Amino acid sequence: MLTGKNLNLGILEHRIKQYLTCRSCYVVYVIFFLCKRFYIGKTNRAMFTRFREHKNSVVTGKGAPRLIEHIHQVHKGNTSILTFAGLEQVPAPLYGAIKY
Ligand SMILES: [Zn+2]
Repeated sequence: MLTGKNLNLGILEHRIKQYLTCRSCYVVYVIFFLCKRFYIGKTNRAMFTRFREHKNSVVTGKGAPRLIEHIHQVHKGNTSILTFAGLEQVPAPLYGAIKY
């Protein structure tokens, strides 16, 4: 997808070192808002599944509170302003140790 690209994450730049697709699992991902804000999360399932959940959470109100709140308050609940990318895939045994 974006292998080898640099993603600008505010004060830091992250280089994607692996080949990641929307079906990749065990990834740390970033969701970009149109306003240049971003949200970082992790999933042990396919990235596109997790991204879909985030979008649905804006409707159901169940999910990451800050993401949901921001979409409602600043973007009128419009989830089409969201895009996502994988940052890094981690070995499954290490996945649980990731805190962010
Ligand atoms: Zn925003």
